[in-house]
Amino acid sequence: MDRDPILLTPGPLTTTLRTKLAMLKDWGSWDTDFIAVTASVRQRLLDIVHGADSHVLVPLQGSGTFSVEAAVATVVPRDGHVLVMDNGAYCKRAARLTQLMGRRATVVPQAEEEPVSAGEMEKRLLADPSITHVVLIHCETGTGVLNPLPEMAAVCQRLGKGLIVDAMSSFGALPIDAREVRFDALVAASGKCLEGVPGMGFVFLRKAILDGCAGNSQSLAMDLHDQHVYMEKTGQWRFTPPTHVLVALSEAITQFEEEGGRVARLARYTDNCRVLVDGMAALGFRPLLRPEVQAPIIVTFHAPAHPAYEFRRFYEAAKARGFILYPGKLTQVETFRVGCIGAIGANEMRQAVAAVADSLAEMGIPDGRPAG
Ligand SMILES: *Cc1c(COP(=O)(O)O)cnc(C)c1O
Repeated sequence: MDRDPILLTPGPLTTTLRTKLAMLKDWGSWDTDFIAVTASVRQRLLDIVHGADSHVLVPLQGSGTFSVEAAVATVVPRDGHVLVMDNGAYCKRAARLTQLMGRRATVVPQAEEEPVSAGEMEKRLLADPSITHVVLIHCETGTGVLNPLPEMAAVCQRLGKGLIVDAMSSFGALPIDAREVRFDALVAASGKCLEGVPGMGFVFLRKAILDGCAGNSQSLAMDLHDQHVYMEKTGQWRFTPPTHVLVALSEAITQFEEEGGRVARLARYTDNCRVLVDGMAALGFRPLLRPEVQAPIIVTFHAPAHPAYEFRRFYEAAKARGFILYPGKLTQVETFRVGCIGAIGANEMRQAVAAVADSLAEMGIPDGRPAG
């Protein structure tokens, strides 16, 4: 293979040559050229959610989870109480980091194959007035299910509860409009649907709550209020910025705009997802989710029932053909996941299905039919 393997994973993902080439230069963090890149990226990210009037954009070093943790630490007061309607692995992670930072968290288990219910959330909020905030995972990447952001945001607004959205795997593809959906914080990262490289996250913070966030964070490095104040004053990041990651993101956003923005990106991912699901269905594979609740970001498939199936061997066989699959994240049923995002299109998805077919054949498995 003279091509890098195609990453069918929800980040890191396959990037374009242009994005990779943008990293071949060193930048001084205090230099005006770099300060201008930071300012431009912040502005263009705000534009994607139409948030320039209502929100500020605060970038943060680290992987996406660092920014989720920072958002909770910055937005939720130390005596706050967070509700998590839990339908997957990233909900559990958000609940855990909330508790580790000393905030009270109530976790309500929900079915993993279904979106969480805004009505059920409302009942919980009414039953326990001590709850101050809701943490919502927009696209639960553990399964690929899409949670109802507009409905849940409307309930939070009506009941006067804060809302923190982990939109890591949806931002840049699925619709999010800050003029229509009220959120206190919304978190995403460089290496997901914007197709940059991993290494930084960013958080949209609602201007109306900003002043009240001062002093909430028990962490120096994760304090988004402090990062924001410093950046507004100096144009610089508080601590060493991920310079190459930021310029790669800037280049990735330029390509995002050239492609036609969020709508075009969603159309490409939707097409990727359809080609994948149809091709896999022809091989006998069955997705975990009903099509109506499946986000076109990552698809969970049931593992084949055949006794010769073993994920590790399947993974290696697909890798030898140039495609990197992703393990499942469910406790009850055996699954694996295939991402639809990254700088790839229908051709790569067709090739991926062909690689899966060849991998099954190599393992002596006639088809991908699951048990039952
Ligand atoms: C990718 C992702 C994250 C962040 O994961 P990292 O490994 O820290 O980058 C958080 N939430 C969701 C829903 C994600 O898809």
